[in-house]
Amino acid sequence: MIATGDHRVVLDGVAHRYRGRGADVQALAPLSLAIEPGEFVAIVGPSGCGKTTLLQLVAGFLTPTEGVVAVGEERVSAPSPERGVVFQQANLYPWMSVRANVELGPRLRRAGRAERRRLADRYLGLVGLSEFADAAPYELSGGMQQRCQIARVLANDPAIMLLDEPFGALDALTRDRLQDELHRIWLGSGKTALFITHSVEEAVYLGTRVLVMSPRPGRIVFDEPVPFATGERGAALRAAPEFVAFREHVAAQIGRG
Ligand code: ADP
Ligand code: MG
Repeated sequence: MIATGDHRVVLDGVAHRYRGRGADVQALAPLSLAIEPGEFVAIVGPSGCGKTTLLQLVAGFLTPTEGVVAVGEERVSAPSPERGVVFQQANLYPWMSVRANVELGPRLRRAGRAERRRLADRYLGLVGLSEFADAAPYELSGGMQQRCQIARVLANDPAIMLLDEPFGALDALTRDRLQDELHRIWLGSGKTALFITHSVEEAVYLGTRVLVMSPRPGRIVFDEPVPFATGERGAALRAAPEFVAFREHVAAQIGRG
């Protein structure tokens, strides 16, 4: 049933129902999905369709009420540093410096001081925050906090990055820039990415494959590879006819039941 492959993510007949004091909420209908190592899967869908639920099931924060989530041969039953999560709102520890936030994962796995320093320098450099290593999180702009969150996740060297609308609260210019940075980082990393968004533009710009979810209970109603090369991003791509055509193709699927 569950195929082999080191970090292949498999959702097999996964459904999720929240049990409340009043009516239960069926957030996800049974759905099945496989994500190959190195893919950048962008999932787009309307608010409330179950995107965060899906991501939290893969993260291991939630256990599905039906079906199985697995990574490689292993059933997901708890969070793991191999699956790094980037949230919409940066959740940096406010009493720690930027550097200490990035060093946290390595510290928890008992990396030595020099190794922690090397990792923090590397990933703060990669996200353009070297000069802010000693700053406190509250001294950073929203976009910089998101970069710090990404550096913190990368410092754990996760095989899989799970990103839940990480740029949703940012202004448009910052968002465009961080999209380009994330794309560059992903391209150089060989990591698998599962990226949740409610923006069709963002999904098409970042994904190697775009999925659309139906309104609640969420199902996958569309799943296609992006019809242009992985390496080319930037303003020219956003305006390219093949980009615009695919974006409109995806947008036409939104709201499909
Ligand atoms: P999205 O991220 O696509 O906006 P969510 O996965 O957050 O959607 O939520 C899907 C549905 O499940 C929504 O109707 C939401 O109200 C409901 N829901 C989410 N979390 C809970 C919870 N802890 N308890 C009950 N219902 C919830
Ligand atoms: Mg959400």
